[in-house]
Amino acid sequence: MLTQYTYYCQPCDPSGSITMPSNNPLGHKNQRRKYKKHTQLPNQVNSPTPVSVFTDRLASSYVHQVEDGYKNAIVEYDDQNRRNLVSKDPNHNPIGQTIMNGVVISMDDGLKIVQPDLANKYHAFTTGSLSNKTCAACGTVHW
Ligand SMILES: [Zn+2]
Repeated sequence: MLTQYTYYCQPCDPSGSITMPSNNPLGHKNQRRKYKKHTQLPNQVNSPTPVSVFTDRLASSYVHQVEDGYKNAIVEYDDQNRRNLVSKDPNHNPIGQTIMNGVVISMDDGLKIVQPDLANKYHAFTTGSLSNKTCAACGTVHW
C-alpha cells in the first residue's frame, strides 16, 4: 500500500508556523539518546531495522543542522497526520547514510526533524528518501 504524505512550505502550513521549542536540541535525555543513535554506526550485522547515521558526528554540527532545519525545512504530514520538518542539503551532498543489516542502503542528503513541536522530544536524523515535493497549498516545487 502506498502511503500518502502531504507537504507545505512553512508559511503555507494550515497548522501554523513552527519554531524550535527549546534552545538546546540536546537538552533532554531523550534527545541525547536519539542523538547517540543517529551518530554511531550500528555494529550489529543483523539489524533489520534501518538506522540513519550522520557523517559529521559532532554535537555542535548536529545542533547546527537542527537549527538550520527549522529555518529552511518544509513541513511534512505523514500518513498518521503527524507533522515533521524535512529539508535537503542545498548541493545534494550526503550528510549521512542509512544502514540495514550492516549494509549501506542509501546515501542521505535529506534531514528530517520529527516531533518538532515538543521541547523534550524533537530530534533529527538523515534520510535518503526525499524526491521533489510540491506544496499542497501554493504549488511551489521544493528541491
Ligand atoms: Zn506553499
